[in-house]
Amino acid sequence: MTETTTFTPTAGGPGLPQVRRIVTELPGPKSAALMARRDAAVANALSPGLPAYIEYAGGGVLVDVDGNSFIDMASGIAVTTVGNADPRVVAAVQKQAAAFTHTCFMIAPYEGYVQVCEALNRLTPGDHAKKSILLNSGAEAVENAVKIARVYTKRQAIVVFEHAYHGRTNLTMALTAKNMPYKEGFGPFAGEIHRMPMSYPFRNSESGPEMADIATTRIDKEIGGHNVAAIIIEPIMGEGGFIVPAPGFLKALRDYCTANGILLVADEIQTGFGRTGAWFACEHEGVVPDLITTAKGIADGMPLSAVTGRAEVMDSVHKSGLGGTYSGNPVACAAALAAIETFEKDDLLARARHIETVMKARLADIQAATGGVIGDIRGRGAMIAIEMVQPDSKEPNAGIVGKVVAHCVKQGVFIITAGTYGNVIRFLPPLVISDQLLNDAFDVIKEAFLASV
Ligand SMILES: *Cc1c(COP(=O)(O)O)cnc(C)c1O
Repeated sequence: MTETTTFTPTAGGPGLPQVRRIVTELPGPKSAALMARRDAAVANALSPGLPAYIEYAGGGVLVDVDGNSFIDMASGIAVTTVGNADPRVVAAVQKQAAAFTHTCFMIAPYEGYVQVCEALNRLTPGDHAKKSILLNSGAEAVENAVKIARVYTKRQAIVVFEHAYHGRTNLTMALTAKNMPYKEGFGPFAGEIHRMPMSYPFRNSESGPEMADIATTRIDKEIGGHNVAAIIIEPIMGEGGFIVPAPGFLKALRDYCTANGILLVADEIQTGFGRTGAWFACEHEGVVPDLITTAKGIADGMPLSAVTGRAEVMDSVHKSGLGGTYSGNPVACAAALAAIETFEKDDLLARARHIETVMKARLADIQAATGGVIGDIRGRGAMIAIEMVQPDSKEPNAGIVGKVVAHCVKQGVFIITAGTYGNVIRFLPPLVISDQLLNDAFDVIKEAFLASV
């Protein structure tokens, strides 16, 4: 349903025409001019994937400066879950920005910060007493979780897993598994970080409890459980390729943590805020973490992150030991409150589960039609990925990923990749995308596969 009639949007949000529409060569002339300015002005280390500069976005589309309208299968990496420029978020942001934009919560506090903490304490798993702190980025939240865990336990070792992604600051680079592009040349890295094997059902045959046993035996032998402050894990690996651990893996880690006085930290920065069809992905496994980090989907794109956890753990840190100038910015807090309200009023959890059934059915059809290059379809809710292999093997096939992505972008469908081997395509549409647009995207994705195998 590529439309050829022209339209001139004047604002983003759900009012944008929900169509796929490519009207220029890519990049279009205005985007090409911006790309040239980018080359001259922006550090080369930043390399945008889409050859188009965005002017408006909303619902399920991104509209570029040349009038091309792309179906958005990325949500700015799982951020605009309730839809770009959602009107309720926009109104809350405008109202707060007109009242005041910053005072610094550490010196002159305001209600919005407290309200977001109350909402997080209510929404995160577990009915124990909880407290929260707000920060700016996901990496900053993970760093703060480590600081809190070390103070509370008076231990230093931190355990992370293969394929993990926790950020790009010095400490979180050390926690992140993949060297290129995240770590290459940026060392030395923080110490006392230990990496353990991850349950990866497509690539290892152990059950969840068996794999957890391998990991915890190694922790006992190599570190000593009594020296470990925290085990940090993404309940579904994000950048690692939407790896869903085998059932029972997380639960066994939870039990090991409890038995050894270790804090279980769920990094739900990508999986959180309804993305997987539950508020938080560890709920699917019935696991209650001691600390949980959130960011991405929390505030519809305004920079905000948080650590939420057991009150006695959170309160173990000395006065003024945590904070930051911009942390919990009032405009970002207003956006988060409006996003959470939108989520609850529009029952977007149900929408995420519906999107899962649509995407998995469409991908199963493409898998059957493409002779064994799609080795695995996995994920939950509106967080689904496919792992590409050489036909009838598990040999990673990154080549086809590049071809499919390029074909899709040309046809107006924006998809992104992931995975340690660069052989995963991940689908992260905003939850407000229409079924029609979603199916149109998968028509194009199927064509792309058929043209690429
Ligand atoms: C994106 C991400 C981070 C880092 O968040 P930033 O806001 O980019 O610092 C950390 N953990 C996970 C699981 C993520 O997906």
